Amino acid sequence: GSGSVEKHSVIYDIPEIKFTKLFINGSFVDAVSGFLFPFSSLGKTFETIDPRTGEVIVSVAEGDKEDIDLAVKAARNAFDHGKWPRMSGFERGQIMMKFAELVDKHTDELAALDAIDAGKLLSLGKMLDIPQSANTLRYYAGAADKIHGETLKMSRELFGYTLLEPVGVVGHIIPWNFPSILFFTKVSPALAAGCTMIVKPAEQTPLSALYYAHLAKLAGIPDGVLNVVNGFGEKAGAAMSSHMDIDKISFTGSTEVGRVVMKAAAESNLKVVSLELGGKSPVIIFDDADVDTAVDIALLGILFNKASTVPRTLNGEACVAGSRVYVQEGIYDQFVKKIAVKANNWLVGDPFDPRVQQGPQVDKNQFEKVLSYIEYGKRDGATLLTGGKAIGEKGYYIQPTIFTDVTENMSIVKDEIFGPVLSLMKFKTIEEAIEKANNTKYGLAAGIVTKDLNVANRVSRSIRAGIIWINCYLAIDSDVPFGGYKMSGFGKDNGLEALHKYLNVKSVVTPLYNSPW
Ligand code: ADP
Repeated sequence: GSGSVEKHSVIYDIPEIKFTKLFINGSFVDAVSGFLFPFSSLGKTFETIDPRTGEVIVSVAEGDKEDIDLAVKAARNAFDHGKWPRMSGFERGQIMMKFAELVDKHTDELAALDAIDAGKLLSLGKMLDIPQSANTLRYYAGAADKIHGETLKMSRELFGYTLLEPVGVVGHIIPWNFPSILFFTKVSPALAAGCTMIVKPAEQTPLSALYYAHLAKLAGIPDGVLNVVNGFGEKAGAAMSSHMDIDKISFTGSTEVGRVVMKAAAESNLKVVSLELGGKSPVIIFDDADVDTAVDIALLGILFNKASTVPRTLNGEACVAGSRVYVQEGIYDQFVKKIAVKANNWLVGDPFDPRVQQGPQVDKNQFEKVLSYIEYGKRDGATLLTGGKAIGEKGYYIQPTIFTDVTENMSIVKDEIFGPVLSLMKFKTIEEAIEKANNTKYGLAAGIVTKDLNVANRVSRSIRAGIIWINCYLAIDSDVPFGGYKMSGFGKDNGLEALHKYLNVKSVVTPLYNSPW
C-alpha cells in the first residue's frame, strides 16, 4: 500500500555516468567559470542528488555567464557561417532521423539516467519518455523539408512572397519534470527550422541532456548547433534570458520565473519569448459518467503518466496535473469512496522497481513544498481523505493525498503544488462547473468526463485552457499543439505551431514586369 516505501526493491542496472561536463561547440569541456588558475582542469561544479536517498550521484560542470557566452558564440558562428541553416531541410531531417535512431538504441540507459536523476519510474521512461523523445525528433524531421512560405496576391503589378527563415540562436530553458521529453520538445522543432541553440537543463536533472548532446554529435549534427550548458537558473538561466546575442528564448517552468525571463528579454535585446508555465487544471466529472472510469481518469490526471494497462504515476509533477476535480452531486459520494480505495492501494517506492506506481518527488525543496501545502490544506479546514504524509526515513516519497471539504479560496485549490495532492469538490449544474473550472489564473489544460456529447462540446468551448481532454487525460503527442491561456503562458509546443515559433516570416516584393510600379 501507499504506507511504505519498498524496502528491498532491487536496484536495476543503474547506468554508468559518462558525461558530466558542458557541451560547447561539439566538445565536452569544463566550466571556465570558477577556474582558479590557467593550468587547472577544474572548473566550477555542482552536485546532482538521487531523490531516492538524498545522496549525491555525481558532480557536474556548472556553467555561468562566461560559459553561456562561449556557448552563444559557438551557436552564433554555427548560425552565421555554418552548414546547418544552409543545408536543405531534407538533409537536416535525415540527420535528425539518425539522431532518433541513436536515442532509441540507448533507451534503457537514458531511462535509467532520468530515473536516478529525477526519480522518474524506469518502466515509464522505457515505455513513454524515451520513445516519445525519439518520435518527437522524427515528427519534426519529417517536417524539416516542408517549410515554405506563401505567394502574395498584390494589388498592383507586383510579385510578393514570404520566406520562412530560422529565427537564429535559440536558448531553451527547461525544467526537471520531463528531462527527456522536454529536451526534445524544444530542440526538435528548432533543429528542423535550421536554428542553432543552447539548452540549459534544470539543475535538478543535468544528466540525460549531456547524453543527448553526445548522441547529436554521433548523428552528425555539426559542432556549435546544439550546446548544452548545465547550471543554476539565477546564473546560467539569467545569463541566457538577458543575453544580447540570443534571438529567442523558449522557456518551460514556473509562472514566477517565466515573468523574470520575459522581463530580462525585454530589458536586453527584446528577444522573442515563448513561455510554457504553471497550471491548476480542472477535471470535471458529470453524473452520467461511469464512476470507475472517472476515478481512473482523475487519478491519471494527478498521478499517472499515461493511460496504460499498468497505471504508473508522475507524482503530480506535471504542469498539466488535474489537481482540481469537480464531481457532480449525483455520483459524488460513490466517487469519493472508490477513489479513496484506489489511492490507498497505490504502491509508492523505488523508481527502478517495475511494480512501483509512484516514485519520489524530485528534490528536498519540492518535497518540503508539497508537505507544507498539505499542512495549509489541513489548517484551512479541508479534510484528508487519503495520504497526507511523507513515507520512509530516506528520500522524498509522499503518499497520494486527496482532500475533500475544499472551498474555492483555499491555497490548495489556487496554487500549483506540483505534487500528488488532489482537491475534490462537488457541483450541481453545468454552469457552476464551468464557472468554478475557470476560476483560476491559469489555463493550461482541462478534463471532462461525460457520455453526453452536447455537454462535452459545451464545456470544451467554455473552458479557457490550451488543451481539453474529453474522457481521457494527459494525452500529449508531438502533433498536438500544447500550451497555455492566461498565466499559463503563450507560444505553443508540439505540432506545426511549434515549428513556426522557430521561424521568422520575411516578405519579398518585386515588380512583376519590367514596368514602373
Ligand atoms: P520549477 O518550479 O519547475 O523548478 P523553475 O521555473 O524554477 O521551475 O525552473 C525551470 C527552469 O528555469 C530551470 O531550468 C531553472 O534553472 C530555470 N530558472 C530558474 N530561475 C531562473 C532565472 N531567474 N532566469 C532564467 N532561468 C531560470
